[in-house]
Amino acid sequence: MGKRIFMYYLTSIVGNSQKLDGGAMFGNVPKVVWSKWIKPDESNRILLSCRALLIQNSTKNVLLETGIGAFFNPSLKERYGVDESKHVLLESLHHQGLSEEDIDIIILSHLHFDHAGGLLSAWSDNESPTLLFPNAKYLVGKVAWERACYPHPRDKASFIPKLNELLEASGRLVIIDSDRCGLLDDNYRFIFTNGHTPGLMHTVIRAGDDEGSIIFASDLIPGTNWVHLPVSMGYDRSPELLIDEKKEMLELAIKQNGRLFYTHDPHIALSRIVQEENGKFIAVDEMRDFKRLEV
Ligand SMILES: [Zn+2]
Repeated sequence: MGKRIFMYYLTSIVGNSQKLDGGAMFGNVPKVVWSKWIKPDESNRILLSCRALLIQNSTKNVLLETGIGAFFNPSLKERYGVDESKHVLLESLHHQGLSEEDIDIIILSHLHFDHAGGLLSAWSDNESPTLLFPNAKYLVGKVAWERACYPHPRDKASFIPKLNELLEASGRLVIIDSDRCGLLDDNYRFIFTNGHTPGLMHTVIRAGDDEGSIIFASDLIPGTNWVHLPVSMGYDRSPELLIDEKKEMLELAIKQNGRLFYTHDPHIALSRIVQEENGKFIAVDEMRDFKRLEV
């Protein structure tokens, strides 16, 4: 057998951005520390990306998540700092020569609005939102789906009830209950964590021999500042569990010479991980948004 060259083109797809409270994003890290990492605005909010990952081969266009989108009404847009009124994700896809019709599969790590809101059409005063991507299957983990249908009071505001109805009515919702999905080739598998939200589904793509895997970190590690083990978010359901799961993911990345994909990092889309002699994990080989990376 010859050496495998590359199998996929990977492109980071920037969606609408958001601004969230810096204290909530950095949990128990004091402001004197986190404000040096990301500078807050006058309302104490920090700018965060909502970055999706497009994976293409000759047969399929797979999109990992859709970001926050533009479905919020004007007052919620203001609250969450969604400054662009257009659906930025769709524009970014257009830049890659793709329309919403071209996406075959959308994999959703969970259904919090800043990961799944981009499934909906942009806000309009006169019309209720519609579900985009008319040819796509929407892959959602079983536990994450149940959570979205029956949220806890603490994270209820993070879901979009109307979205659940639309997904179900589409006939294209696929519930994932194992580490694989028959719609995807064998290089895809899923791992699940529970510290951020129950059943958070991470896609792991086995890449060419020299490349290692690509791991979709989602809200387990939203950006490079959260690679450091003790850093977690105030939004996390179970911070200690999250930190244990994060350690496992970082060790997996090192073992597989893998790269983590960050959805919320304002600058960095992809990095490898190393563990320093004192045990601290750090992001290395950091890469900004990228186009048609061959893996
Ligand atoms: Zn989340």
